[in-house]
Amino acid sequence: MSDDVPADRLGRPLRDLRISVTDRCNFRCVYCMPKEVFGRDYPFLPKAEILTFEEIVRVARVAVAHGVEKVRLTGGEPLLRRGIEDLVAALAQLRTAEGRPVDIALTTNGSALAVMARSLKDAGLSRVSVSLDSLDPDRFAAMNDVDFPLARVLRGIEAAQDAGLAPVKVNMVVKRGTNDADILPMARHFKGTGVIVRFIEFMDVGATNGWSMDEVLPSAEVVARIDAELPVEAAAASHRGETATRWRYRDGAGEIGVISSVTAAFCGTCTRARLSTDGKLFTCLFASEGHDLRALLRDPAKDDGDLAAALGGIWAARGDRYSELRSSLGRRRAGRIEMSYIGG
Ligand code: SAM
Ligand code: SF4
Ligand code: SF4
Repeated sequence: MSDDVPADRLGRPLRDLRISVTDRCNFRCVYCMPKEVFGRDYPFLPKAEILTFEEIVRVARVAVAHGVEKVRLTGGEPLLRRGIEDLVAALAQLRTAEGRPVDIALTTNGSALAVMARSLKDAGLSRVSVSLDSLDPDRFAAMNDVDFPLARVLRGIEAAQDAGLAPVKVNMVVKRGTNDADILPMARHFKGTGVIVRFIEFMDVGATNGWSMDEVLPSAEVVARIDAELPVEAAAASHRGETATRWRYRDGAGEIGVISSVTAAFCGTCTRARLSTDGKLFTCLFASEGHDLRALLRDPAKDDGDLAAALGGIWAARGDRYSELRSSLGRRRAGRIEMSYIGG
């Protein structure tokens, strides 16, 4: 433990690393990569600016040696990054200072999961979260805005379960007035299947999604709506820093989670750092500036000791707690990084 990077200014240790492996996506979810902004001419990152797998693994190795226990691959759509299984396999070799394997998870839109679930599991992936905002085929197609068929995502979820990427989690971003009618169908559909549905409050990430508080359906209301038909009771958090509050069905048929990023901020236990596709380290989802690790990685005069020192310095200076301050700050729209760039 003594090798851990120092806790940040609010006493929070560094435990989780989220790595965005691509800024590209085959969906155009209206709240994340709206077509009007992410169109044909959008300047996605050129290849030379994207971290190679070797560079990603180097950052992860140093981070794991200094306290990180969980790595989550995200994007953009991480399954679009060619050879992603090779990256998973390399990350699966990492061990914490105590010799424990690292928990490797991935967040995906599920579009390629039916084909890739087995090879990802074989490569060493532990778990997968699939984003799915509606079980209504038309509404789903409208929300991903590329007419992607719902049935293929559902097949992907089954494939993940069959491959043993358990427990599979399904993340639904709830927008009041857009898909809140899907809350109950979603709970009904996955109840008793082993899949854990997590309902996420629509967040004011980025500057392009036209967020408004009117579209946030508080998690308390989500739980109340479910409880009225499918009774639930509070369950204990499974670990410190868990983003979701757990609720279990009273009849024993599994659990759901709610992620109250807006109405009940959880900055106090936030142990996450995020590495962007081009190698910037962000200490908060709502940061506007990242710390450039790529320059360090590509400088032949710098070694892993320098990287560890940089990581330690960045983390020690961290005082972020945006969600806790949201209402008092008012909306700071300019300069905000996009979710598709940094991942969820
Ligand atoms: N493409 C992958 C996917 O959709 O799962 C990984 C990247 S995506 C940016 C990660 C997660 O962020 C998804 O679950 C998505 O629904 C969520 N997300 C994006 N914009 C959001 C917002 N404004 N509020 C809440 N969640 C958001
Ligand atoms: Fe793509 Fe995921 Fe963003 Fe949807 S939420 S546009 S699938 S990155
Ligand atoms: Fe962590 Fe920033 Fe989100 Fe707070 S607002 S939980 S510090 S990422």
